[in-house]
Amino acid sequence: MIDFTSKKFGLISLGCDKNRVDSEKLLQLVRDRGCEITDDESLANILIINTCAFLNEARKEAIETIVGCAAERSENLEKIVVTGCLPQKYIGEIFDGLPEVDVFLGIDDYASLFDALEKSYRGDRVNLVGKGEELITDRRVLTTPCHYAYLKIADGCNNFCTYCLIPKIRGRYRSYEMEKLLKEAENLGEVSELILVAQDVSRYGTDLYGKKFLVTFLKNLTTLVNISSVRLLYCYPDMIDDELIAEIRDNPKIVKYIDIPLQHSEDRVLKLMNRRGSRQSYLDLLKKLREAVPEIAVRSTFITGFPTETEEECDAMCDFLREARLTNCGFFAYSREPDTPAYKLAGQVPYGVKRRRVRKLYAVQRQISKQFLDGFIGRSVRVLCDGIDYERNCFVGRAYFSAPDIDGKVYFNANEAVQGEWYDVIITSDDGYDMFGATGDFEDE
Ligand code: SF4
Repeated sequence: MIDFTSKKFGLISLGCDKNRVDSEKLLQLVRDRGCEITDDESLANILIINTCAFLNEARKEAIETIVGCAAERSENLEKIVVTGCLPQKYIGEIFDGLPEVDVFLGIDDYASLFDALEKSYRGDRVNLVGKGEELITDRRVLTTPCHYAYLKIADGCNNFCTYCLIPKIRGRYRSYEMEKLLKEAENLGEVSELILVAQDVSRYGTDLYGKKFLVTFLKNLTTLVNISSVRLLYCYPDMIDDELIAEIRDNPKIVKYIDIPLQHSEDRVLKLMNRRGSRQSYLDLLKKLREAVPEIAVRSTFITGFPTETEEECDAMCDFLREARLTNCGFFAYSREPDTPAYKLAGQVPYGVKRRRVRKLYAVQRQISKQFLDGFIGRSVRVLCDGIDYERNCFVGRAYFSAPDIDGKVYFNANEAVQGEWYDVIITSDDGYDMFGATGDFEDE
């Protein structure tokens, strides 16, 4: 038996915030075994790389990270463990292709980490993808700043968008039991902002409870005294119903913000993408949301350059943005992913054209976001302090209309500010993405 308590573990988490939650659970497993966790990779005896693989770019990043870690192998490094989406989907290719990796685990094999390591220390390379045990835990080692955390409420997806590999990697939609999620949220301790994530947050409970259950879950979650506010990401448009809108309106702990990935605005392209909804249904939904919650901030993501998309359809998407007046958006060039239905479509758009369309969409949205932010100049905005920005020599935080990492920030001066506390910041300017200001009592030296 190997004495793992003498080993130091490092972890590199690639990809999205959902993967980050999986990484945090893995770290908890390591800690429960009595092992030390280090954030200095050069000190790690066992390095876990939790990968993402749903886009070509993510796979490239994962492979470069693995190869890079192996090439710069410190004298301390004994084992490299690769987990998550990349081995889950591509183990056939990478087991022989990445001989520097000692252990491979898929998305539902994390609980077998130590068994796999035991085998590996006996001299074997280990592939437990699809053969290990699922890690079920309601505790995590947080890797976010301590005042906010993500809560992953489900895994997998049933939507089968024609450009997306996720259902093939992570399987059908599976909600996690509400009681377990409440316990997990409670175990996080004091959290100023809890951010709900899943491939499709709004579908929560349909598999497990036979009906939409997000509102019931939100009502229960917001009774927890350690959770000050809850933010919703990744809501599929046609799953946002009157009940959910009313809950966002009436529940003071729910941030008046919603992320609705729309992906396109034009009906013909949406159909090719196998997305439910239409330009008009999206505009109707936005109208309904704003009538119920006038201050609501709506963020979205869009893909341009989907096969056969014309310049006119991209221009129509620009017009949609002008009409929809979303708070903030991310735009992505379509990525042609093998093993997806869209891969086979004729009419692939050249790379340069896709990049140009992304720039065009960003330019339109930037003006809209700027107008939105300009409306706060001279006004006081409630800001959650995320810490100090040492480059700008001021505090940095976020208003209700900004989620961490994907939206703009508020850079502000204050005599004093504490991470995780809210401050009233008077906004003096913005650049169309970030805002700048100071607390009312700030005294410049
Ligand atoms: S909703 Fe579509 S894009 Fe999102 S994870 Fe599911 S299949 Fe992929």
